[in-house]
Amino acid sequence: MYDPLVNTSPFQQEFAQSYWANSVPLGTAQDSLQQSIQTDIAIIGGGYTGLMTAYYLAIEQGIDCIVIEANQVGFGASARNAGFVLKGSGRLSYPQMAKRWDLSVAKGIFNEFSEAVERVDALISDHHIDCDRQENGYLKIAHSPKAMQQLESANEYMQRHFGSDSQILSKQVLFDEYMHHQQAHGALRIQQGFGIHPLKLLLGYKKLVQSVGVPIYENSCVEDWIEEQGRHRLITNQGEVIANKVVCCGNAYLPKRFNSQIDNKFLPILSNVIVTEPLSNNILEAAGLKTRQVVMDTRILKYYYRLLPDNRLLFGGRGAVWGKDAANPKYGQRLKRALNSAFPALSNSKVDFNWTGWIAAAFDDMPHIFEKNGVGYSLGYCGSGVAYSAQAGYRLAQSIAGQPVPDLPLYSSPLPSVPFSRFRRWGQWAYYHYGCMKDSIL
Ligand SMILES: Cc1cc2nc3c(=O)[nH]c(=O)nc-3n(C[C@H](O)[C@H](O)[C@H](O)COP(=O)(O)OP(=O)(O)OC[C@H]3O[C@@H](n4cnc5c(N)ncnc54)[C@H](O)[C@@H]3O)c2cc1C
Repeated sequence: MYDPLVNTSPFQQEFAQSYWANSVPLGTAQDSLQQSIQTDIAIIGGGYTGLMTAYYLAIEQGIDCIVIEANQVGFGASARNAGFVLKGSGRLSYPQMAKRWDLSVAKGIFNEFSEAVERVDALISDHHIDCDRQENGYLKIAHSPKAMQQLESANEYMQRHFGSDSQILSKQVLFDEYMHHQQAHGALRIQQGFGIHPLKLLLGYKKLVQSVGVPIYENSCVEDWIEEQGRHRLITNQGEVIANKVVCCGNAYLPKRFNSQIDNKFLPILSNVIVTEPLSNNILEAAGLKTRQVVMDTRILKYYYRLLPDNRLLFGGRGAVWGKDAANPKYGQRLKRALNSAFPALSNSKVDFNWTGWIAAAFDDMPHIFEKNGVGYSLGYCGSGVAYSAQAGYRLAQSIAGQPVPDLPLYSSPLPSVPFSRFRRWGQWAYYHYGCMKDSIL
């Protein structure tokens, strides 16, 4: 499997054999770039972020732009994620944000994350994107009594300071009304949040971008990026683009050496997803699975899951540390064991799909949407970019057009460098061991 820290190019890489790819065709690819063209803004990457940046540049700012995608739209994380549209990105809690900056900054970020979910919801309904939107609700399951106390104080904090739409569910209420989770100690429920079919959403965005006249060049990989006299020359496998500005939306699929503003500034991490066979009514009843809301737990090494419209259970968590191990079945088997422990009634249910994908983690645990010297980027969603990528694209387009964006660290500070970047995989390996130990004792 393509490993961004090892391979030099994401061109012509294997697509994920995901449940999503199995359930909807990608359609015909747009022509690749085969000549030299000029544009105002070149956007690298045809995932949610690249497509949404293009959309808002075109409709809100009236700026000429193109999208260049190394493979066909439907290759990157946007096509292989779990489809959780959540009010959040990065890994920082609101009290941590308030401590690092102040309460008004934490509140500003909360508002951005809330707007992100509203934005995706409005895009889906205004443009009739048929992407299997599920019911509202995001459940954060406490995996220990201590985690439950932390959820209670998080709920109290969010309600007091932000008027949040959250509520605490006791262990009994969770059991009676949502699921018979064998390890849960209760949950925090946030009303704003829902599941979607991620690939259908992506293809809906692609159609939207095409409808506003933005060219998308597929199977066109940017192999070289030369900055000359204030302009940018992007060399692709068969053509070239001369642009005034470049927006880099390649996420964790960007190769190791690409542009000095991005290189060594994020950690690509594998996330792994399994999807079971369709569950019978008897099994659903035995597992007490009554909800189609999206679910995640409070572990350091989190598991996330949801019941899909055809009664399959999607279950995800961490994958391998190194890309060369990504396809090893032991990671899917580990997820199945975790699923069995939470819902023993599913122990004999078959797994029909198992795939992985890269997420990009920033060293300071938060996304950065930044532009300097004609180079813009949006990176570091830390595994929560389905909702926020639309907001990031909107803000990136404003910033490229020279319009003000909210004065928040999300938009005002560049990605920090990862220290000892050559050893980041070993750091991740050590962190996983620490996480396993901590999750088992707390
Ligand atoms: C298994 C998994 C589960 C996840 N689950 C969730 C979830 O439930 N909820 C959530 O909020 N987030 C989730 N995420 C994260 C989410 O999918 C991402 O944050 C989001 O899709 C990022 O979108 P993007 O457009 O920035 O990047 P991507 O969708 O990864 O797109 C980047 C694109 O850039 C292209 N590219 C890279 N380099 C070049 C180049 N040199 N030239 C041309 N093109 C290039 C790639 O081919 C790729 O198509 C998950 C991620 C994974 C992997």
